[in-house]
Amino acid sequence: MTTREYIKQMRREDPNIRATHIADLLQISKARVGKILAEEKLPTRISIPNYYACIVCGIDVERPINFCSPECREKHFYIYVNCVNGDGKIKMRRNMYERKIQKGEMSFHNHSCMFKYLWKTKPSEMGRAA
Ligand SMILES: [Zn+2]
Ligand SMILES: [Zn+2]
Repeated sequence: MTTREYIKQMRREDPNIRATHIADLLQISKARVGKILAEEKLPTRISIPNYYACIVCGIDVERPINFCSPECREKHFYIYVNCVNGDGKIKMRRNMYERKIQKGEMSFHNHSCMFKYLWKTKPSEMGRAA
């Protein structure tokens, strides 16, 4: 029987089994269990009292916390966007990025990236005395 079949069977036999419990039993990662459950369209969250799930990946957590891991916390609050200057990605708080988009602002690593970009695209304006 494959891991996938084991997981489906466990869920069938005990609809309230926690994904973390399945992961322990099969000695595989919680993320893998969550992924397979999602692919099989099986609930990763179960409706039992005091049941908590990570708001990012849906894996159950033991305590009333929102995230199963620092990685999921990071995924929720931060995103990586391309510096308009074209020299790589910037780590940015998601809400800050959304505000920038609303205001139509471009994203740069820092002022030096911004000036480099402006010199490249609008040399005449940059060369003019302020
Ligand atoms: Zn998670
Ligand atoms: Zn940059």
